[in-house]
Amino acid sequence: MNFYILTLFPEMVRNALNTSIIGKASKKGYLNIEAVNIRDYTADRHQKADDYPYGGGAGMVMQAQPIYDAYCALKEKIGYIPRTVYLTPQGPTFTQHMAKEMAQEDSIVFLCGHYEGVDERVLEEIVTDYVSIGDYVLTGGELPAMVMVDAISRMVPGVLTNETSGQSESFEGNLLEYPQYTRPYQWNGKAVPEVLMSGDHRRIEMWRREQSILRTKKYRPDLLKTAELTIKEKALYQVNDEKSGE
Ligand code: SAM
Repeated sequence: MNFYILTLFPEMVRNALNTSIIGKASKKGYLNIEAVNIRDYTADRHQKADDYPYGGGAGMVMQAQPIYDAYCALKEKIGYIPRTVYLTPQGPTFTQHMAKEMAQEDSIVFLCGHYEGVDERVLEEIVTDYVSIGDYVLTGGELPAMVMVDAISRMVPGVLTNETSGQSESFEGNLLEYPQYTRPYQWNGKAVPEVLMSGDHRRIEMWRREQSILRTKKYRPDLLKTAELTIKEKALYQVNDEKSGE
């Protein structure tokens, strides 16, 4: 899968996405991540890519021309009109569901804003999706783009070494994942739950399912409203559509 990140700070993106699982997947060819410096496309002789906002107010606004030219060069390279995400606190919040859906694309372009944001006219021209990573304001779209690239990449076949580990995680069926343990068996006076040592896979599955439901009920009761639970489970854990939000 190809990710193209339009940014004024390409080094920030390159350094972060070159490490760990995502870095390894890129080296193996499962992912191609390119940070494109918007400033390389400015027509301004002082390399300026931002200017004062019309109507006054604090801060600077990223100009339309360099962004549009950088985008057009990418469109040419990709060979079709690509899905183009503008990272913005004004968009719907990014979810695991969106990550899975976007992982079906061959190529995605991300536009990272900075300062006060981006000239609206270029957004109207190129953006297909407006996405936020949460209800808070960051200095730029680079961290949100990296968050999205990371989450989407994990859904691309071959990126995770254990293929199933992307399937049974938190948010699958709208439940949080069960607690995990590793060696040693005893740590700080605490033992690993006995059931995990039993070798009885059915019991282990049942215990994990129960833990997932209890955890979700405790930490994210909002998710339970749409979680995939059987009628028996709903009765057992006292979950119903009205009560689950309490
Ligand atoms: N003035 C803008 C507003 O109030 O909506 C915020 C601009 S913010 C300081 C600069 C850039 O950071 C935005 O253009 C956007 O690309 C990015 N950004 C900030 N917070 C974000 C969030 N929660 N999710 C995604 N992108 C964000």
